[in-house]
Amino acid sequence: MTMDNIAAVLYGPREIRIENRDVPQRRPGDVLVRVLAVGVCGSDVHYYRHAQIGDTRIDKPIILGHEASGVVVEADDGGQLAVGQRVSIEPHRPCGHCRECIAGRYNMCRTVEFLAHPPTDGALAQIIAVPAAFCFPVSDSVSDDEAALVEPLAVGLWAATRTRITAGDRVLVVGAGPIGLLAAQVANAVGATTVIVVDVSTPRINKASTYPGVNGTLLGDVGYSELGEFDVVIECSGAPGALRDAASALAPRGRIAAVGIGRNPLSELDILLIQSRELELYGVYRYAGIYDRAIALLEAGRVDVASLVTHRFPLAQTDEAMSIGETDPDAIKAIIYPQR
Ligand SMILES: [Zn+2]
Ligand SMILES: [Zn+2]
Repeated sequence: MTMDNIAAVLYGPREIRIENRDVPQRRPGDVLVRVLAVGVCGSDVHYYRHAQIGDTRIDKPIILGHEASGVVVEADDGGQLAVGQRVSIEPHRPCGHCRECIAGRYNMCRTVEFLAHPPTDGALAQIIAVPAAFCFPVSDSVSDDEAALVEPLAVGLWAATRTRITAGDRVLVVGAGPIGLLAAQVANAVGATTVIVVDVSTPRINKASTYPGVNGTLLGDVGYSELGEFDVVIECSGAPGALRDAASALAPRGRIAAVGIGRNPLSELDILLIQSRELELYGVYRYAGIYDRAIALLEAGRVDVASLVTHRFPLAQTDEAMSIGETDPDAIKAIIYPQR
């Protein structure tokens, strides 16, 4: 198959080159997808700026982007997916046969590949090869942007699932970025009756308050001790001390999810508080087995992902898309369109 495959490739800090790449080879069970929309995630921006996250560094040029939607352009005959099907792409490619994969915990697979996690190339290209099993059909009511944003929605849904948010729960979400805003909406959708989102940014807090059942509160105006008592905390900021401070707002037997990636060594937590209140701490690392449920929530109108999108760029302006957060305080989610 001869096709152009223009891609945005990161060579080093703030060095994106727009190149024509070979169309990737399909591995067994793969489909080829023409990528329609890619959300820019905080992790993409971090790689863009520093060419590494923690110990994970890029030592060869890499294509970023893991929040993607597209349309199937090549598939096995008789497979689950037909050419022309619009899909939301789950970025995992697990081995499928290790202990974790067999148990359904494929996000814990030791050899899992994940779009845009070095050395695996991501979705900022016109054509990518992905496992058919990780392409989820979406209905016509779901836009290309929304189908791409199923990825951060899945993270929010996974945090709510891990912490078992249920009817009547009081939920505190720390950090009003895309993941926090989506986790808050999911909490409301699954029956939480109090959902408070705290952040230090006024535009983000204002955004949080636009969602039904969600109350944005500016941190600083109000401290954790004045927020009241919560059954669940979803920590999405990764800010130093945030886990410890937010845990102090938990009711007895409260559950706390560590979603935000930062320097939060466990020693920052107050172990005495965890013991005396019998608190439960949950690590949240990506998600497993919930893309179909995230799409169902979206199709049922229980969550609004489209309103997160504040900026849109063609592939040639990937640089601008990666740096918009530095220039526009109202920026929440940028979308890049590889076909434009
Ligand atoms: Zn992401
Ligand atoms: Zn595995």
